Amino acid sequence: MFRISQDEFRAIIQQLDMAIRNHEEWFSSLNRQMLCRLPFDQRDLHENAYRECLFGQWLYQHSHPALRDHPAFESIEKEHQRMHQLAARVLVAAQESGSAQPDDYDHFSNSLQRLRLEVQTLKRELETTYYNRDSLTGANTRVGMLTYLREQLELVKRGSQQLTISMMDLDHFKTLNDAHGHVVGDRVLAGVARFLLDNIRPYDRLYRYGGEEFLLSLSHTGAAEALTMIERLRNGIERHEIVIDGDERLQVTASFGLFEVTAGSSIEEAVHRADQALYQAKLLGRNQARLWTAELADGAV
Ligand code: GH3
Ligand code: MG
Ligand code: MG
Repeated sequence: MFRISQDEFRAIIQQLDMAIRNHEEWFSSLNRQMLCRLPFDQRDLHENAYRECLFGQWLYQHSHPALRDHPAFESIEKEHQRMHQLAARVLVAAQESGSAQPDDYDHFSNSLQRLRLEVQTLKRELETTYYNRDSLTGANTRVGMLTYLREQLELVKRGSQQLTISMMDLDHFKTLNDAHGHVVGDRVLAGVARFLLDNIRPYDRLYRYGGEEFLLSLSHTGAAEALTMIERLRNGIERHEIVIDGDERLQVTASFGLFEVTAGSSIEEAVHRADQALYQAKLLGRNQARLWTAELADGAV
């Protein structure tokens, strides 16, 4: 899960904008050098030119570690490397025989277009993630949740994945607020969310569904595996100590309801069923995870 500060976010967007501007200028200057038969900058012929340009230095040495796990970032890395290698091929041909193969030139020029698209995609994804983040907990807000879950459901319908969603609600949180105050409650809430974000996989999503209620979307995960994962998270929350002023430490527990989304379900129904299973977990004594079963359907509990 991608978590960055506002300054880090701004710096990344700036680097991505600069990457496009710099490579457009570089592309124009290479064209000028070739057309006017000017001497080439030999650095452009280096095998490692893609690591040595300003963007390459940032990409490989200074970029945020969390960014490197982002799938769109990997595509940019590959496209950028390919573009510099294609440039070197065109330049070597121009240097040795006075002209490059038209196909090679086309590939080079197309690779700049692709890089531009890849960078725009990453920027859009980062902006969406960043602006739709709940400021207290760092989880996603509900904006975009249904759209995302519907996209995930489409993949289930096509048979490309299994998907389980889980609703989580902190146990007796009102009592904790009453005993320690709302500010401490906020800190506990943020601590639990941070624990979850640190312990889910990059392709899982955590949404703040309501006050102290969260929805987890577990892609590529069937009910049995999800139950194991959630059980691990539940256990982790129970053991996780949140430090309050000085030496005071607080612990909370959480209850979870799970539903494996099937091709015939709607997202609304899936969320409702996960909620029914959560209600069952509360009824059975809290601090546990329950999978939805048909017996829990409306009226049965
Ligand atoms: P249960 O085990 O049945 O879930 O008990 P509960 O006390 O957690 O249940 P309930 O849903 O009635 O209470 C939730 C409480 O969570 C009430 C509300 O004051 C508190 N809460 C909701 N959002 C926030 C928040 O952002 N910060 C703090 N500090 N408390 C919150
Ligand atoms: Mg609660
Ligand atoms: Mg609640």
